[in-house]
Amino acid sequence: MNNIQRGALAALLIVIVLIAALAPAGIGFLFAQRSQRHEESERLKTVANAALNRAEDVTRRLSGALWEIGKVAAAPCSPPYLDALRRIALTHEQVRDAGAYDRDGRWQCSSLLGAVSAGTLDGLTLPAPDWRSRDGVMAWYGLARLPGGKTSLVMGRDGFYVAADPSLYVDSLESLGDPASGVGVINTEVSRVIATTPATDAAAILAVYRTARRPAAAPACDCQPYVVRRSASMPLAVVVSAPQQSLRQRARALPWGWLLGGLAAGLLVAGWAAFFIVRRLSPRGQLSDAVRRHQFIVAYQPIVDLGTRRCVGAEALVRWKYHDRIVRPDHFIPLAEHRGLIQAITDQVLDTILLELGEFLKRYPEYYVSVNLSAPDLTTRRFLDVLGPAIARQGVRPQQIRIEATERSFLDADAAKEVISAFRDAGHAVYLDDFGTGYSSLSHLQTFRIDGLKIDKSFVDTIGQDAASSSVASHIIDMAATLDVQVIAEGIEREEQAVYLHARGARFGQGWLFSPPLSAAEFIRYAGKTRGA
Ligand code: C2E
Ligand code: CA
Ligand code: CA
Repeated sequence: MNNIQRGALAALLIVIVLIAALAPAGIGFLFAQRSQRHEESERLKTVANAALNRAEDVTRRLSGALWEIGKVAAAPCSPPYLDALRRIALTHEQVRDAGAYDRDGRWQCSSLLGAVSAGTLDGLTLPAPDWRSRDGVMAWYGLARLPGGKTSLVMGRDGFYVAADPSLYVDSLESLGDPASGVGVINTEVSRVIATTPATDAAAILAVYRTARRPAAAPACDCQPYVVRRSASMPLAVVVSAPQQSLRQRARALPWGWLLGGLAAGLLVAGWAAFFIVRRLSPRGQLSDAVRRHQFIVAYQPIVDLGTRRCVGAEALVRWKYHDRIVRPDHFIPLAEHRGLIQAITDQVLDTILLELGEFLKRYPEYYVSVNLSAPDLTTRRFLDVLGPAIARQGVRPQQIRIEATERSFLDADAAKEVISAFRDAGHAVYLDDFGTGYSSLSHLQTFRIDGLKIDKSFVDTIGQDAASSSVASHIIDMAATLDVQVIAEGIEREEQAVYLHARGARFGQGWLFSPPLSAAEFIRYAGKTRGA
């Protein structure tokens, strides 16, 4: 992976982590805001229902008192009439005052003041009513009957009236939650505000009511939420609007629990995503991926008889096909060994050999393929147990699969000794690879019973160049002859090397002089050519 790809991946990772961290917090926030709005609107509805009940109840009671006055038989404003008015005013809690007026609307008497003598309260004439029902009930809203006196809500009919405190309509609502909510009661026939809670702007309440009546005309804004309830039996409506909140109040009302919960969940998800991606992108993650996806291919380097130059077999060399690149084993085998992935790779190499060359080996029993094993493959009989049945199924003879083991694979010498014996007993020849490069190649040659050794390329390279070290190859060959083990010389690139090695007694060799590692089809062709077929 180059630096640009790494940079792009890092950027992608950051974006994913950010999305993963913020998305749940955002969703949580939106969700919480919705539920908060829903809660708010439910609360407003509860207040509105209570307010409407209250308004209807007050209206009903005032009408009842009015109806009782209508039944008083005494002459208007006579002492018994005034007594009756006082009794009615006392028994109806909501009634502040009751009284009578003449046909011209002039005030005649009152339960509080008694008979109003002409002259004292001259000019106290009722104005035209704010509302009049079909059956003759009239209402005055916000009427101050005495100069400087309190305003009253007055309901009258046929020359008599009851007066009440307008706040009766809206008191007792404070207990229903947020007292800052504005409540207004409206007469819907004349669109007049009858009463509002303290500090509530009547004009604003009326504006809200008008907007609600014509929703199409409602401006698209995030105005404060409101609820309007209309009475089914009376020309009344109530408007409840939520208070305009200050920034600090809004912040306090934010669904912090949801926000923090969402953020925590997001960070968890992001952490997991980061862990997952980093793992996937790590060499180990990519190699496990490759094992899972069978991304390995095998190249076959012909091994030839140095005398006849005929091909006798091939060494299987694994490659990792990573996207459109081929990765050489030196770059991943150590990691695979370290991370416990090498056995799976060995198995895949064997599967590939049998798939690609199974038929060929069955047909030409004189050829063999040698497989490179690592320490874990040589500590137990596991691979042997896989190998035996697999070649049997293909009809490939045990002699046709040979084993190459380096000194590094002899970590557990006792176990390796046993496993090597088992391979040989099963018919697989075993070679000591990279011979001469380790510290104890000679001692290994004594400890392990093996069939042959592969002279490392470094000793072949010096042939014909440096007399001192080029003789090492010659000594190894002599020693092999003494021990009666076969020799394969690796990395032969020049003809003089091949000639020299053969003259000294090395029977087999491999290297670019003969052929580089080939595909299965190329190897089959190569073998055919050297056979003279
Ligand atoms: P090795 O077993 O010593 O394999 C020989 C290496 O030398 C191969 O490299 C081969 O391509 C290269 N080579 C052959 N002839 C010449 C030549 O004339 N000149 C030069 N310069 N190089 C030549 P490769 O394929 O890169 O393999 C490297 C090492 O990876 C192998 O060394 C072997 O130790 C390991 N290896 C390869 N396949 C496997 C496998 O399936 N399993 C295990 N455990 N190790 C493997
Ligand atoms: Ca080898
Ligand atoms: Ca080697």
